[in-house]
Amino acid sequence: MVLLEWHRGVMTESDTLIIGGGIAGTSAALYLAQNGRKVTLLERGDIASEASGLNAGGLGGIGWGNAPDLSSYLTMGSLELFKDLQIGLGYDIEFRQCGGLQAIQTQAQYEFGGEKVLRLRSSGYDLELLSPREAQSIEPEASPDVLGFIHFPGRGQADPVKTTRAFATAAQNDGARVLTDHPVTKLKPLGDGSWSVETPIEEFRAGALVLAAGAWCGPLGDMLGLNIPIEPVRGQMWATGVLPPRLHHVISSMESESSWASGVGEGPDVPPELTHKDGSRITRHLYGRQTKTGEIVFGGDRELIGFDLGVNAEGIEINKDHVAEILPLVADSPIARTWSGIMPFSLDGQPLIGKIPHHQNLFIVGGLASSGFGRGPMAAKLLAEYIRTGHRPQVLAEADPARCVSW
Ligand SMILES: Cc1cc2nc3c(=O)[nH]c(=O)nc-3n(C[C@H](O)[C@H](O)[C@H](O)COP(=O)(O)OP(=O)(O)OC[C@H]3O[C@@H](n4cnc5c(N)ncnc54)[C@H](O)[C@@H]3O)c2cc1C
Repeated sequence: MVLLEWHRGVMTESDTLIIGGGIAGTSAALYLAQNGRKVTLLERGDIASEASGLNAGGLGGIGWGNAPDLSSYLTMGSLELFKDLQIGLGYDIEFRQCGGLQAIQTQAQYEFGGEKVLRLRSSGYDLELLSPREAQSIEPEASPDVLGFIHFPGRGQADPVKTTRAFATAAQNDGARVLTDHPVTKLKPLGDGSWSVETPIEEFRAGALVLAAGAWCGPLGDMLGLNIPIEPVRGQMWATGVLPPRLHHVISSMESESSWASGVGEGPDVPPELTHKDGSRITRHLYGRQTKTGEIVFGGDRELIGFDLGVNAEGIEINKDHVAEILPLVADSPIARTWSGIMPFSLDGQPLIGKIPHHQNLFIVGGLASSGFGRGPMAAKLLAEYIRTGHRPQVLAEADPARCVSW
């Protein structure tokens, strides 16, 4: 038997094998299993042990607009899937459609933000400009000393670990096999279009392979001689201790968005929208919320420094001072813990969702960058539809991996 020659130990067969137990992989497992496919998911650590469990838990949502594009599909579609996970399937993922507030602190930001509100509203999106007093009527801790806020009524939040684990459990309930502590060490295309996947524990054979390994899609591509240009970008966060409920919205700032719009930090070989270039800060970025347990959690820095999971203390202090400018209560709340995680950024900022060229039955859902928690489930659902039907959903044209994967 040919198969027995290359399988050292146990061999498991599946229709589709997914590598990665983050939000992209676990939700892909659910939507493939829901369609009756025999699915195996391999995660080298625990479910949600990387970016999907370490993020801030903020969800986008400015509406579908008059002409929904990929961004609307991923963000608004995922929001519906978060709701369905909690309300429809009954998982407590701490989902709340709480709305968001983006602080405007300078005249230049005000002009940029005002133009953004007019432009997006005329395209059918849901956002509005508020004065500080109007903002305080819905977020009493908002500073009266900033120039204004943009209000996004549709934004939401959810607990990253609970959500990612809920997707994995739901997938298992629909028949998927989810295996943790299974690092993939070798990938091999078999001549008939199927795949051999090796881990130190077990060997697998699958009809189709999905790379959902976040910032580690590049190293998996290396196993196949493919250049998958997804760069590891470190994000870092901090949290206060447990406080009484004080913040209702997810909070962000206009500072970085207006800097990036002016072209700051751009370059051919670096992903867009980083806070640092060549080791120096180019802007301050900020996002956060208060969790159900009462911690106020914030972060913002995005640095291209490889797979370094350290924390830059100076960056944390700069971020906390920035938050205190917008939410003065934070100034007197000590930091209780800090952490970092690795985000998967493509060089053009767009995700990679679809078929990888040069190989049969090889797919990817990756490059979800700084908003993959809020966009991952719909990215995975669209990929599942592609795999099931063999036809690429039209909206995935923008995310075609063929634009950047080489060999
Ligand atoms: C600090 C921080 C804050 C963020 N805040 C937000 C936010 O508020 N909102 C938002 O929408 N997004 C946010 N993000 C981005 C978001 O977390 C990511 O875009 C998203 O989690 C990526 O999901 P993923 O499943 O693609 O990757 P990951 O979550 O990284 O999952 C990939 C998995 O693959 C596994 N893996 C890798 N190699 C192998 C292998 N060889 N074998 C087996 N398994 C392997 C890893 O162990 C990992 O578990 C933030 C990210 C960070 C770091």
